[in-house]
Amino acid sequence: MKIVILDGYTENPGDLSWEGFERLGELTVYDRTPHDDAEIIKRIGNAEIVLVNKTPLSAHTLSICKNIRYIGILATGYNIVDTEAAKERGIPVANVPTYGTAAVSQMVFAHLLAYCHHVSEHSSAVFAGAWSDCPDYCFWNYPLIELAGKTMGIIGFGRIGQAAAKIAVALGMKVLAYDEYPSESGRALGEYVSLDELLAASDVISLHCPLLPATEGIINKSSIAKMKQGVVLINTSRGPLVAEQDLFDALESGKVAHAGLDVVSAEPIQRDNVLLKAKNCFITPHIAWAPLESRRRLMAVAVENLAAFLRGAPVNVVNA
Ligand code: NAD
Repeated sequence: MKIVILDGYTENPGDLSWEGFERLGELTVYDRTPHDDAEIIKRIGNAEIVLVNKTPLSAHTLSICKNIRYIGILATGYNIVDTEAAKERGIPVANVPTYGTAAVSQMVFAHLLAYCHHVSEHSSAVFAGAWSDCPDYCFWNYPLIELAGKTMGIIGFGRIGQAAAKIAVALGMKVLAYDEYPSESGRALGEYVSLDELLAASDVISLHCPLLPATEGIINKSSIAKMKQGVVLINTSRGPLVAEQDLFDALESGKVAHAGLDVVSAEPIQRDNVLLKAKNCFITPHIAWAPLESRRRLMAVAVENLAAFLRGAPVNVVNA
């Protein structure tokens, strides 16, 4: 049984082991594969099992690589695979539905707390000598913000949104939520409101809805206009949820006081992305999911997905 992993590097840059897959077949791992059908087809060859994270598997590729029996996604999102074409060929596509809830919700507050006390900027100032030269026992170069008593608005109140809400509540924040599908667990953590109510009442807005036609550009000129002056925006979900030029303009004007972004419209970030010129903006390179603990969990589930398929009882199939 030949198993090919087309883009293993971000899941396992060397601090994990592929042995779970090695036990299940003859494994070939590529760190990266160019997003080019011809190269993808060449690398898959006559393998029966293909694992991908962000490398696209098109209907064309599936039509040529006729030996494929199973596609495993080393992630939650599977939009890179033509799942319908796979289904027509009887190929199950299995994903890892949840592995990074704790890490991604933690990242929301890594961004938010870093902003509230400007941790990085103050540390840099201290290393540059500003504290040694200070006539007082302390100094601060930015307004410092206490979150207790402030309102956190969460758009998309699923697993990660609710995990973020628990942290917000622990910090003394009030939680408002907007979701197309309210749940009992959500009601226990925050108050469901309309999107407009959330935009108007929140001091901090955090995005946790999936990227769908209905949510693309949900943060845009018109929704920003409905927000409080000086709102903070956090996006750890998907870049295209935000109209980036509109966010840039709002950061320039001060309408949005600060943005903390782990995701942008095109990744890796393009050199001409307008947000690279934005003030009051932290951007991290899509790392919310990536602590070792999360990647280890992801690996374990991906291996178990394949083992279950080989036992004849596939799980986590997204194109059943
Ligand atoms: P989830 O499915 O548990 O929650 C998503 C929620 O969004 C659901 O409650 C759903 O009802 C809601 N929703 C759907 N359509 C909506 C709409 N039009 N408006 C408002 N809400 C809507 O997913 P999750 O595990 O909480 O993950 C949330 C998102 O986090 C994912 O879609 C993914 O984009 C992102 N993510 C990012 C990273 C990272 O490393 N930065 C890692 C994992 C996931």
